[in-house]
Amino acid sequence: CGIIGAVGRGDATLDVLLEGLSNLEYRGYDSAGVAVSGGELSVAKRSGELDVLEKALAGKSLPGTVGIGHTRWSTHGAPTDENAHPHMDCTGTVAVVHNGIIENYESIKTELMDAGHEFKSETDTEVVPHLIEAQRAEGASFETAFRKAVGRLEGSYAIAAVLEGSDTVYAARNDSPLVLGVADDATYLGSDVPAFLEFTDRVVYLEDGEVAELTSDGWAVSTLAGESVEKDVRTVDWES
Ligand code: GLU
Repeated sequence: CGIIGAVGRGDATLDVLLEGLSNLEYRGYDSAGVAVSGGELSVAKRSGELDVLEKALAGKSLPGTVGIGHTRWSTHGAPTDENAHPHMDCTGTVAVVHNGIIENYESIKTELMDAGHEFKSETDTEVVPHLIEAQRAEGASFETAFRKAVGRLEGSYAIAAVLEGSDTVYAARNDSPLVLGVADDATYLGSDVPAFLEFTDRVVYLEDGEVAELTSDGWAVSTLAGESVEKDVRTVDWES
């Protein structure tokens, strides 16, 4: 349903994600969660209102400076803590959020389970971190693993992924909106501009089939095959 991402906000990362999720509440949702990556990867997620997640996080500071967050509107699997996003791989080093529906998830899930992957949720989304894990196990970089995983998917998706020990968020879309927010010292990701509008009004709209890379040095957009794409940065005049 709703996606927020942030790179470059240092210790404020968790607060920025929670603020972004609260900005997305108007879209409706049944669960919420965040993943923050730095030296380690921390995930917190709960079914119910954002309040429930915030209470679970009260007094905790998730370490890390790169993050993604999600408000879920269930399509596959009941609104439970386990089915809330972000979803992780078996090793707990990859976390993924997703809006939309992966139409071919059942065949991918069967293939991955046959290869020994254990699933924790009933969602279509959980195949994505496991696909990334499978690619990485074969030696692929995070970037290549992300591109190959996304290349397997059919259906509608806005997807963002983080990896433990990496300062990069990778994101991709097909038939589901995704937009970058560009600031001098940080880059944001949102399913919609209001997610990050309080932090920046400079935006880059992603198109179907594009991959975005958000790092501490900035951002880049490419095709799924890896060809660089020139994008316009626009200033939005959003009536809220
Ligand atoms: N299909 C996914 C799920 O049911 C994502 C739903 C959404 O867009 O929030 O978890």
